[in-house]
Order: sequence, then structure tokens, then C-alpha cells
Amino acid sequence: MAEREPYRISGRTGDWEVVIGLEVHAQVASNAKLFSGAATSFGAGPNEQVSLVDAAMPGMLPVINRYCVEQAVRTGLGLKAQINLKSRFDRKNYFYPDLPAGYQISQFKDPVVGEGVLTVERDDGSTFTVGIERLHLEQDAGKSIHDMDPNWTYVDLNRAGVALMEIVSKPDMRSPEEAGAYVKRLRALVRWLGTCDGDMEKGNLRADVNVSVRKPGGELGTRCEIKNVNSMRFIQQSIVYEARRQVEILEDGGKIDQETRLFDAVKGETRSMRSKEEAHDYRYFPDPDLLPLELDPDWVKRIQDSLPELPDEMAERLQSQYGLSAYDAGVLVTDAERASLYETLAKKHDPKLVANTVTQSLLTFANAHNEEVTADGVLHIDTKALSAYLALIEDGTVSSRTAKELFEGMVAKEGTPAQIVEARGLRQVTDTGAIERVVDSIIAANPDKAEAAKTRPQAIGWFVGQVMRETGGKANPAAVNEILKVKLGL
Ligand code: ADP
Ligand code: MG
Repeated sequence: MAEREPYRISGRTGDWEVVIGLEVHAQVASNAKLFSGAATSFGAGPNEQVSLVDAAMPGMLPVINRYCVEQAVRTGLGLKAQINLKSRFDRKNYFYPDLPAGYQISQFKDPVVGEGVLTVERDDGSTFTVGIERLHLEQDAGKSIHDMDPNWTYVDLNRAGVALMEIVSKPDMRSPEEAGAYVKRLRALVRWLGTCDGDMEKGNLRADVNVSVRKPGGELGTRCEIKNVNSMRFIQQSIVYEARRQVEILEDGGKIDQETRLFDAVKGETRSMRSKEEAHDYRYFPDPDLLPLELDPDWVKRIQDSLPELPDEMAERLQSQYGLSAYDAGVLVTDAERASLYETLAKKHDPKLVANTVTQSLLTFANAHNEEVTADGVLHIDTKALSAYLALIEDGTVSSRTAKELFEGMVAKEGTPAQIVEARGLRQVTDTGAIERVVDSIIAANPDKAEAAKTRPQAIGWFVGQVMRETGGKANPAAVNEILKVKLGL
């Protein structure tokens, strides 16, 4: 494979390299909050899911939710990370109306999960690794609503106290594409493990994007942190904009102020929020209401033993077991359900044909209907229909060309695949007599071309095209080639 061109920003003084590190906030998949029993379901009415603890009523005490800790540990193990058997919760103090306690409970010095690593695949199938610095547990804040009333700000505390995992990467990404690929991989992993649903539209996974620039291979530059970016596209757009902005400042002889910035999706630009000098002093200290968190090694081991095969392991297995390309394997393990559907079908059908069907026809269909591929297919195109469809291609009833039409018929709910083949007349002509008759008539009508083909065998392609046209794409291509070779004397 050719060497990949590194991502560069060209400026007046030469090329620049961009360095990216991400802090991803992933909402823990749990029915209850991190320190209270209040519910966490999406779409509840304002303040319907708020306990006295979440509202910070005097005298209320937090009680750690064991399941949320288990989810964090499971994620850490999925990241092949160090699990810290002793960790601690700290108070991060700041004032905000949607933070009734006046502090957020987080983990500062001693996070539950330490260093790990994630192998990430680029679109072309090549891979790179991103170091994980840490994963810690913390509470989410509530939400201030400024646009419901001209005079009042409303506060909704449903989110207050919901468990978040903050997953901090090392500054190991070197292009917007790599940052996007990392978030995709991380999202796939947490969904795979069932520890976060990864729904970015609901805000269940969002990222703080740290960006700096430097001359290729030079010292790390000063970074800016773009807060709370909530879509894959915005993450990449904000990096492109921010890196360009920093290059311009540096080339004009300026220096980068370490600051927190916001991404304005409408204008496609980042804007300063606060500089380092204005940064909060959070006065972290250990939360006196919570004992240090101590994990039983046997409990961690049980979680480890219950982990499913991980996506990158499965991607490798799919390549060796079924002969898939790295790209196809990568697309399939993006989601556990999709991967499971693949394997169900690949056990009974040609693995490469199944890969094409799932990653192309079925994914296109799913996207068009805003649906996800599940272990049983998508909407009415279930495993039974897919299996029948694949069998019809494999036994030669339909050609790979007419298979497209057959799939269209399935999308349009025209019946079972077998019924569609009959109704649409898609049956492939393997009857050699019928193909021979078509070949004969084409050769008879084009004696000059038939003569020329004798000295220029590539010209057979033209004849194949004619036969296909004549038969509406239904002739078996292998049979057509065979017969043409004989009749043209090649
Ligand atoms: P803080 O606690 O102030 O946010 P951290 O050292 O924890 O600082 O870093 C936060 C994030 O910034 C990490 O994801 C890290 O990879 C990233 N980062 C650190 N230095 C740089 C840099 N020079 N350029 C880009 N990203 C960086
Ligand atoms: Mg930070």
C-alpha cells in the first residue's frame, strides 16, 4: 500500500501539523443516577426525575450506584486499561443555577480507570492507536432554559446527577479524519459493551476537542479546548477551523493563548469563551460524604470474564475467517447488532456476498429510513428475506446485475424474493440454447465485428454487452462468455 500523505496545513512559512486530544463525555447506560435512585429516561417532563439528592436538599447524602461503577469498569476493560482498585470522588466547586449543590462530584486525582489504548481504523482500512489517559466517573449538571419566557430562566434538573464517563485521550490524533475515526470507534465500543447508547443527538456522547498546531515533528504547541461539540461533523469542522486560525496567528508572529472556545455550528467557527487567566479555580477536594471507592479484584475479574469479543478482535477474526477486507470488517463491527446479523448470514451463505449485501444494499436501505441494522435485519427486510435473497443469487436464479432489481422489489414490499423474481421476470437465463440463439443472431448481424474479434480478443466485451442488453441483463455472464468464445473461435 502507498504511504499515506500526512495531513498538513500549508501556510506562508511552510507546512503545519495539527495535534488533537479529545475528552469524551459518555452518559452511562443506567436506569438510575450516579448517586440517587432517580430515573434517567430521555424525554420526561421537566423536573420529573429529580430526587432530593439531585436537588441538593440540605442533609441529603449521595449513595454510589454500583451498576454505574460496573459500567465504567467494563468500559475501562474494553479500552484495555488499568483498573484502579482504589479511587476517589472529589468536589469540583463552581456556581451555576443548574448545579444546585454548588459543586459537581467528579474524580480528579484518582480516577477509577487509568491508562489504556484504542486501535482505530481509518476509512481506507489502515489503523493507528490512540492512548487513553484516563476514564473517570462524574455527575452531569441540569439544564438552564433561556428561551421559554422573555423574563425568566427555567431550570430542569432531570439530567442533574446522571452518571457520565469522561474518557480522556492522549494528544495522539493528527487530522480531523483521525479525530472523527476515533470518536466513531469509541462510540462503537461503548455501544458494543452496552455501557453508553452513544446517541449524539440526545447529547449522550459529546466531546471537548483540544487542538494545537506545530511544525511537523516539533514541540507540542499551546492548545485551545473547544467545549461540548455534539456531532461527528462538528468535531471535524471545528478542528479544521481552529487549526487554520492558530496557524494564521502564529505566522503573523503572534502566540496562542490557552483558552476555552465554543464552536458556532451556524457560522462554522470557534469563538473565545474564557482564557486561562479567567479559568475557574474549582478548589477540588475529596467529597467528605463519600468513602474512597474500593473495588474487589474478584468482582473486576468477573466483569472481565463476562466481556464479549471486542470489536477490533472481531474485525480481525472476520478478515481471517471469512476473507473479508479490513474495510468491510471495520464497517461490520461498527455495531454489535450489525456484526451479529453478518455472522448469522455468513454461516449459511457466501461470506463476501453477505458482506456486500449488508454493507451496501442493507445499510443504504437502513440509512434511507433512518433505521439501524439489527441482528434480524432492517424493518421488513429480515434475516429470512435476506437469506432467500442470497440463496437466489448463489444458485444462479438471478445474476449479480438483476440482484439489484430484486433488492429494490424487496424494499418496495413486492412479496417474497422468489415471488419478486417471477413478478419482475428476473430469472437468469442459464438455458444455453436460449443464449446461443441470441449470440448467433448478434454475430450474424455484425460479421465485421466478429471478424475483428479474432485478432483482438478484448472485443468480446462488446458482444457480452450486446447479449446482456438483448436479454435484459438476465443471461448468466459465465455462460455468455463461454458460448461467445466458442462461436467467435477465440
Ligand atoms: P485539562 O485537565 O486542563 O483539560 P489535560 O492534560 O487533562 O488538561 O488534557 C486535556 C486534553 O488535552 C487531553 O485530551 C490531552 O490529550 C489534550 N492535550 C494536551 N496537550 C495538548 C496539545 N498540546 N495539543 C492538543 N491536545 C492536547
Ligand atoms: Mg479539560
